[in-house]
Amino acid sequence: MRDLLGGKGAGVAEMTKAGLPVPPGFTITTEACNAYYEAGKQFPPGMWEQALAALRIVEQQTGKTFGDRHNPLLVSVRSGAKFSMPGMMDTVLNLGLNDETVQGLVEQTGDERFAYDAYRRFIQMFSKIVLDADPREFEQKLDEYKERTGASSDAELPASALKELVAEFKQIAERQSGQPFPTDVYEQLKRAIEAVFASWNNKRAIDYRNFNKIPHNLGTAVNVQSMVFGNMGNDSGTGVAFTRNPSTGEKELYGEYLLNAQGEDVVAGIRTPSKISRLKEELPQVYEQLQEIARRLERHYRDMQDMEFTVERGRLYMLQTRSGKRSARAAVKVAVDMVEEGLISEEEAIRRSDPTQIYQLLLPRFDEEAKARAHKEGRFLARGLNASPGAAAGKAVFDADRAEELGKAGVPVVLVRPETSPDDVHGMLVSKGILTARGGATSHAAVVARGLGLPCVAGCEGIRVYEEEKLFRVVGSDVVIREGDEISIDGDTGEVFAGVIPTVEPNFEKETELQKLLSWADRIRKLGVWANADYPRDAQRAVTFGAEGIGLCRTEHMFMEQERLPIVQKMILAKTPEERQAALDQLLPFQRSDFIGIFETMVNPRTGECYPVVIRLIDPPLHEFLPNYEELLVEVTRLEATGADPEALKEKKALLDAVAAMREMNPMLGLRGCRLGLLFPEITIMQTRAILEAALEVAQKTGKKPQVKIMIPLVGHVNELREVRRQLEAVAKEVTAEAGSAVEYKFGTMIELPRAALTADQIATVADFFSFGTNDLTQTTFGFSRDDAEGKFLMKYVDGLDAPGLPEKVKILPVNPFQTIDRDGVGQLVRMAAEKGRAANPQIELGICGEHGGDPSSIEFFHEVGLDYVSCSPFRVPVARLAAAQAAL
Ligand code: ADP
Ligand code: MG
Ligand code: MG
Repeated sequence: MRDLLGGKGAGVAEMTKAGLPVPPGFTITTEACNAYYEAGKQFPPGMWEQALAALRIVEQQTGKTFGDRHNPLLVSVRSGAKFSMPGMMDTVLNLGLNDETVQGLVEQTGDERFAYDAYRRFIQMFSKIVLDADPREFEQKLDEYKERTGASSDAELPASALKELVAEFKQIAERQSGQPFPTDVYEQLKRAIEAVFASWNNKRAIDYRNFNKIPHNLGTAVNVQSMVFGNMGNDSGTGVAFTRNPSTGEKELYGEYLLNAQGEDVVAGIRTPSKISRLKEELPQVYEQLQEIARRLERHYRDMQDMEFTVERGRLYMLQTRSGKRSARAAVKVAVDMVEEGLISEEEAIRRSDPTQIYQLLLPRFDEEAKARAHKEGRFLARGLNASPGAAAGKAVFDADRAEELGKAGVPVVLVRPETSPDDVHGMLVSKGILTARGGATSHAAVVARGLGLPCVAGCEGIRVYEEEKLFRVVGSDVVIREGDEISIDGDTGEVFAGVIPTVEPNFEKETELQKLLSWADRIRKLGVWANADYPRDAQRAVTFGAEGIGLCRTEHMFMEQERLPIVQKMILAKTPEERQAALDQLLPFQRSDFIGIFETMVNPRTGECYPVVIRLIDPPLHEFLPNYEELLVEVTRLEATGADPEALKEKKALLDAVAAMREMNPMLGLRGCRLGLLFPEITIMQTRAILEAALEVAQKTGKKPQVKIMIPLVGHVNELREVRRQLEAVAKEVTAEAGSAVEYKFGTMIELPRAALTADQIATVADFFSFGTNDLTQTTFGFSRDDAEGKFLMKYVDGLDAPGLPEKVKILPVNPFQTIDRDGVGQLVRMAAEKGRAANPQIELGICGEHGGDPSSIEFFHEVGLDYVSCSPFRVPVARLAAAQAAL
């Protein structure tokens, strides 16, 4: 019905059919509107005659006659398209009035004041909408009369003043339009219908459709409806109401109304409207009836409604109903409540929920009023990219060590960097938020922040960060923010403010409705939902959010921590196997304790059993753990120049040589992943030992059975995996033999190179599981280096490139393939590898651990492909649970 009658027409028709009190009327279809435009702005043949026939029926239903001087029918002429475009198109009220019918209205109602109020409103609206007159002159005149008669609102204007106003308004209209004001009611109707058709193509409406991606060829319907009057005294009124509270979802009528008012008065802010709850006292019967209607409408539409109503002399009329817009919080509560009320099924609640909204629910947000105040007070500094959602406030800190120091002491800090690198992670971990001056939505800062669930504003070019001086300047102003100064960042909008804006903290455990919704999702979904977590703290959060395992625990982060890094460097720079082993022996207890923490945390809170944990062996190239080559070179040169400290020079030179020897032209494709394990087996052997010793210790201590899954990264050829696995399997046997007890362990690999996907059948013969590393797989399949692509050209590929000779920009890619899986390319590799892997090894377990694991559209694809689980950052676990259920419906 909505296609043909528009949303408003369909709503009014359905309410009428359901027996609700709706003023009689008829709808001219959107088809008629389109035909009108096609015919060069002419009513299509027969339309006007049909409208007149329908008008006759409305006359019968109301017992009034259009244009009659004793008992006139008045109508509203209302626009209404398929998609609601609030306030974009036009409506004329009180149509059918002229100097004669207004007398009839006086006779009908016995209320001269009311009749002339209706008349002057009609002239005012008709002039503005149909005659295209400037509304300001009418308003000025109205104000003039109010002043002259001492009326504080237009409801107080006496009949005599209104009569004079009518005459004045007509003059204004005639002067402005250059033609007499139409007195023929049929001409009024015809022209109002044309005006509503025309409002489909006014600039406001076109802009709105462009912005909201609504097609331009739908057309608007026109609703001609008999008038009811909210301006007939204090037992009359008009209002808008939601069947539930649109910001909290609470089941209560929510809205506003004005007594003795008509139509737009509520929205126009002429008088301050009252809260709908007051109607209970002012017009109790009407309130009760409205509540009953709200219930019936919800039962009919099985959704929360947004209603417009008018009360005429104590009688309630419904003028509009549509599905109500609501906040993320309200959306969840309404869906869950409606299931419990028996209005909708659990499946329907899942279908209706928006995974992205759920994500927002779990993040701290700024108090909106406080933020508006900050803007007013001039505390807005700059805007960057909204790289990771949520809000954060704290002291600005300019290096990671300082952030760690303060953060661990419980001081809220926001880490401000030109850009971040793995060296900053320890500081990011304890920060409330991250602000960078450079880097895009997938820069290191953005990716890590999203993984940690931290708000991040990246690429904020409106600030200059001076690391050494520990300050940033706001470009184009003399504002300076120094270490310790408070700032606030909004990761939803990219805004940066001086000072603290208070935030509102969410608490997952208290989100009982969300928990319920997700428990239904768990029942429906086929995909497992695991999390990527490197630290017990993240693992804990993952479990709280409902993760059923860890799909990726990166071990190299553990190497980066302050007290360990020197040992790691010693290990890397070792000249003899003995030296290397000695360093590794020192690292082993650290790694072991990390894993103990994770195994202990990953326990199913209901059954007490251990969840699976996939631990990835060292992956990045070793030079990432060493000082930067350029910086070292500078240092050596300086030491050489001063000649002061020959010992230090010698040491630095040796280090420089070592770093130089390890430099690679293209580290992403260099000595990393399983290649490291093949060249330096001691490292992965140590890691395997640490993992298994940790598992054994937890097993012994708790009596539980950790599920250990050791993952060997960046395999391209089956022989790589075969050899690494052979070595590690031997270690595993050794460790478990030493302990005299066994724990369950598996070996698997990441599928993150095209060759691995193409030869997945071979690889599957030596792997117990595959985990698709879709980040690297996307990089290597497209041949994009992500760090370079996103800043340089990828965004343009998505947004569109200037195309010489073409009027519009040309889009190369529909979406960023690092956010949403490229189904046609990368996705095909995933599908093929999954099929080949399963065929060669039916027991094989298949998961995905790239960032795509938290993206709803990608999750749908992984469901289709038939993977066993997706693994994503802990904060996206609820999103993934819901998205996986939606995929299964
Ligand atoms: P919009 O799409 O901008 O909300 P509407 O067509 O819903 O425009 O009209 C706006 C308001 O005008 C309605 O909320 C109602 O208060 C008033 N109105 C419209 N038609 C009638 C009618 N037949 N009787 C009384 N008031 C009406
Ligand atoms: Mg409306
Ligand atoms: Mg990788």
